[in-house]
Amino acid sequence: MATRKKSGKKKSPKPAKRGKSAAKKVIAVKKTSAKAGSSAGTDTQRVAAILAKLDAAYPNATCELKHESAFQLLISTILSAQCTDVRVNQVTQKLYKKYTKPEAFAFANPADLEKEIRPTGFFRNKTKSVMGASKAIVEQFGGQVPRTMEELLTLPGVARKTANVVLGTAYGIASGIVVDTHVLRLSQRLDLTRNDDPKKIEQDLIAVIPRNKWIQFSHQLIWHGRRVCAARKPKCAECNLETLCYAPDKTV
Ligand code: SF4
Repeated sequence: MATRKKSGKKKSPKPAKRGKSAAKKVIAVKKTSAKAGSSAGTDTQRVAAILAKLDAAYPNATCELKHESAFQLLISTILSAQCTDVRVNQVTQKLYKKYTKPEAFAFANPADLEKEIRPTGFFRNKTKSVMGASKAIVEQFGGQVPRTMEELLTLPGVARKTANVVLGTAYGIASGIVVDTHVLRLSQRLDLTRNDDPKKIEQDLIAVIPRNKWIQFSHQLIWHGRRVCAARKPKCAECNLETLCYAPDKTV
């Protein structure tokens, strides 16, 4: 408290008496402590080592939703909520042959569309989102999927995750980091965040991952989550990140 500071007889030595190098050390220690307080695993060298190992394991990681345009990727990403990419790809294989333009989705027969996307789950809500987003694209964006986070977030059914997928994969724009279920789980296991909320996790990741790695990093974590670091029984013995990982649910 301020009053204690004024009346206290024992004062800590003034920085001037310590010399410049000692004062620098104090600042450095304070910075390190602040980082450790937010997340112990975000030391620059450790993060660089994680990124290098992800590059080694998944040099060609990319989005596994099949698409031929930004619009198709947007629709597939909406359909992928609570559903596997494999299932979405099965559904969209037929879907995109019938609905070839945003107008076709925008003015679809809702009952037909519900039936067609039913295998992806939550088909009523997804139909509303697909039709609503398509209508907005036709009526407000000249039939083109917008290229900014702000504009994408105005589309029905589109939140940051979907917007980041479209911006990163379709347009190569690093506007944020995709935080899906795999990125969320692995970021926690690798101690890159200590938050549970996807928005906060994205901010934690943005703070420690270099911007030129944002797009590839999320693809790589998603691939690693699908192939090795599963939610249940992660294959830690096969994991090239094992020496850097101290997750409490490690299996080795
Ligand atoms: S060591 Fe295990 S828990 Fe850690 S990242 Fe690898 S697979 Fe996941």
